[in-house]
Amino acid sequence: MKIIRSPKRLNQALFRARCQGKRIGFVPTMGSLHEGHLSLARRARKENDIVVVSIFVNPDQFGPREDFKRYPRDLKRDEALLKRVRVDYLLVPSSRSIYPKGFREFINPGPRARYLCGPKRPGHFRGVATVVNRLFTIVQPQAAYFGLKDYQQAKVIEDMVQRFALPVRIKTCPIVRESDGLAMSSRNRYLSKKERILARGLYQSLLEARRVIQSGHRSVSRIKRVVRGRLLNDVSKIDYVEMVDPESCAPVKRITKRPVLVAIACFIGTTRLIDNLLVKG
Ligand code: AMP
Repeated sequence: MKIIRSPKRLNQALFRARCQGKRIGFVPTMGSLHEGHLSLARRARKENDIVVVSIFVNPDQFGPREDFKRYPRDLKRDEALLKRVRVDYLLVPSSRSIYPKGFREFINPGPRARYLCGPKRPGHFRGVATVVNRLFTIVQPQAAYFGLKDYQQAKVIEDMVQRFALPVRIKTCPIVRESDGLAMSSRNRYLSKKERILARGLYQSLLEARRVIQSGHRSVSRIKRVVRGRLLNDVSKIDYVEMVDPESCAPVKRITKRPVLVAIACFIGTTRLIDNLLVKG
């Protein structure tokens, strides 16, 4: 695996592969890798000739009071994990190479950013769309891999690819969970032992939502009440509990026969966690 810091150099390195008609698969990450990230890299390995992973903690997708500074960084460990998956190139760009001086070409994240995490984290999806757009320009992959753990993010990216007619296929991959159901996340490292146990409540609440929906309840407000009640056994603060249309990410008014995405964001202590579950009505 070659570790490359300069986007220009990566582009040069990939030029030959592109000319030979090789398929490039790309996995953008913020590092501090776990099985969730590795599942994307493994799938990219299976489906492409060349696999590129990027690690860039994007300052632009963190709010002023969020955890950019303390976000876990562990490049040596990440390198070792990616080598085992037989990644070809690891791009670790500097902020300056992604955002050159005077950079203003921010990407409008589109209508799906209006819901769920959008209003709770102003500017977050603009930052995500912008950095992914920049990385796509550098890597020019045929396929890019995103986890459904960040369901709304994947939808925002799919929408951006469509609006800009970018020649890249977005592939979404299932959520990888710990044995007790907690979705893997770099932020789980923030949790104390006690908080880690409480964090189980997040997935348990999603399962409770599914149980209530599949037992025939149709009123969104009633289901939300049940889920919030379950969640408050464990978490210190709920950011949102929503039932949304899986395509538009807009809240649904009533549960119908169509699938609904149950999405939760909450705080365990000071750590903000998100999770979701697609439920067939
Ligand atoms: P991040 O490093 O948090 O920006 O995540 C990079 C990519 O890994 C995103 O596409 C995430 O959705 C994906 N990812 C993170 N956690 C998981 C997980 N538990 N299961 C599947 N994909 C994940």
